[in-house]
Parts: sequence; structure tokens; C-alpha cells
Amino acid sequence: MLQQELARREVGLEVSAMTTGIEVNASNEVTGLSLKDGRTLPADFIVMAVGIIPNTQLAEDSGIEVNRGIVVDEYMHSNCQNVYAIGECIEINEELFGMVSSVNKHVDTLVAVLTQQASKSKWPPFVSTPLSLKLKVSGIAVCSSGKIEFDESELASIEQIIYRQVNSDQYHCLYLKDNRLIGAVLYGETSDGNFYSQLINEQTDVSEFKDALIFGAAYCQSLLDQQVEDKESIAVDPVTNSATALNEKPKSVIKADNQPNDDEVA
Ligand SMILES: Cc1cc2nc3c(=O)[nH]c(=O)nc-3n(C[C@H](O)[C@H](O)[C@H](O)COP(=O)(O)OP(=O)(O)OC[C@H]3O[C@@H](n4cnc5c(N)ncnc54)[C@H](O)[C@@H]3O)c2cc1C
Repeated sequence: MLQQELARREVGLEVSAMTTGIEVNASNEVTGLSLKDGRTLPADFIVMAVGIIPNTQLAEDSGIEVNRGIVVDEYMHSNCQNVYAIGECIEINEELFGMVSSVNKHVDTLVAVLTQQASKSKWPPFVSTPLSLKLKVSGIAVCSSGKIEFDESELASIEQIIYRQVNSDQYHCLYLKDNRLIGAVLYGETSDGNFYSQLINEQTDVSEFKDALIFGAAYCQSLLDQQVEDKESIAVDPVTNSATALNEKPKSVIKADNQPNDDEVA
């Protein structure tokens, strides 16, 4: 769908195209990009996005432990006493970080560590959460959250729920494991992106509202409310045989802190 929309805007999109080289003319000007399948995409300008490569030289020269990034623990502490590191340059449990929201969490942890030196028990360790990404192309709403790629062996234990509305160019795909949402891809209508991200991050058991999950937060809430109403109407005391209202407190699927997050990529 994304490919079609971009094509309509006369923008080409190649996926899984393994690049093998940049072609240049006699004046050393770019003329194209060669692909593994033998094709050459003509080009006079090439921009490469290669992910994060931390510049660790300064740390390394200072004797601080470095792997792909500056190695720190979940309290942002390097292997050197009184030396902390945060941001894109660090590595925690072999993970690198390339989004502002992760860096903000590093900051929160480090501030607690530095301001509450006396009470280590109050330090909130940094916990990595699945990324939520939005495509920033005007007029095209696409977002993904959590894990959305699986190998063959993983697929057997993954439940996939897909909703596709061809007329309105809408596609939602959810991945669940053991009644917990682990990944979501939304195209066209993405307003429930934060709702799904929250379920993924909090590893919520969705079994009570799984039937409505693909339709978003409002439908899930309505299903839960309906379940409470149904219980209230059918509760019968087995001894006296009289009906009793259970007055169960409705559960809420939408948390107060379900604010838009800022994990976005262009
Ligand atoms: C093109 C682009 C688009 C992006 N878009 C998004 C987005 O949409 N959403 C998102 O969440 N993230 C985005 N990111 C990633 C985001 O910008 C980074 O994750 C974030 O800025 C990392 O913060 P940082 O403080 O670790 O590093 P930086 O923001 O790079 O800050 C590091 C600072 O340290 C300074 N510095 C470096 N070496 C030294 C030295 N030896 N001495 C003193 N100072 C030094 C640098 O000058 C710099 O000011 C984007 C990044 C790029 C490049």
C-alpha cells in the first residue's frame, strides 16, 4: 500500500534491494546504484542511512570499556569510577539507542543516580522498551510498534490479526504471543498507535478484549464495559436463587498517561 501511494506521487521504493556499489562516470560523478539482482538504479545524488555508529575514540583512549558503544550498566555507569555516559554513544546489554525517547530515559536514570547518591534502592534502572516508529511523510500515516519481524521458528507461536479496509486504504496488523500484544503495524489510520504501544510496553494480558483489539481502544473499552454489564444482569445467588448486582468496577484499557510519544523517524 505504501509502495503504491509513493508510486502515485512518482516516488520509487525498493525493498530488500541489496546494494552492491555506487556507479560513477569518468569525472567521478554519481550515475547510479547497482543492485545484487543485476539492476542499476540511475541516480545523480545518493543519501545513505547507515544507523548509529558511536564515536567511541575518546572513551577508548581514556581506558573506558567500549564495544560497539561506550559500555554502561543500567545506571549509566561505565567501568570507570565516577564516569557515566548517556545517549546515542552508549551500549547497554549489547543494545544501541537511536531515538530521542530512549535518550530521555537515560537522562531520567542518570539524574536519579546523581541526585540520590545515598539511596541506591531509589535508583530506577534503565529498562529498554520496544520502539514505536512513525513515518514522517506528509499525507501518509504509517506507524509500527514492538516486534514486527519474525523468523520461521518464531512464527509458529505468533498469532496474527489483520484488518484491511481496501476502500479507505487502511491496514492494521497485530502480532500476539501468549495473549500479549508484541507488535503492531498501522497504515492509513494510526490514531491507536499509542494505545497499542502501551499494551506492548506493559505486556498487558489482552485475552478479555482480544476480539475487539484490532478495532482499537474505543472498541476494547466498549467490550469490557459490556462484559461488566452482562455479569451484573445475570448474577444469581445459588442458595437463595435471587439475582444480585455485582457492581464490578469497569476496567479501563486506556491509561491516563497514554500520551503521544515522540519516537519518530523520517
Ligand atoms: C537526520 C536525523 C533525523 C533524526 N530524526 C529523529 C526523529 O525523528 N525522532 C527521534 O527520536 N530521533 C531522531 N534522530 C535521532 C536523534 O537525533 C538522536 O537519537 C539524539 O539526538 C541523540 O542524542 P545525544 O544527546 O545522544 O546525541 P547528540 O544529539 O548528537 O548530541 C551530542 C552532542 O555532543 C557534542 N560532542 C560530540 N563530541 C564531543 C566532544 N568530544 N566534546 C564535547 N562535545 C561533544 C556534539 O557536538 C553534540 O552537540 C534523528 C537523527 C538524525 C541524524
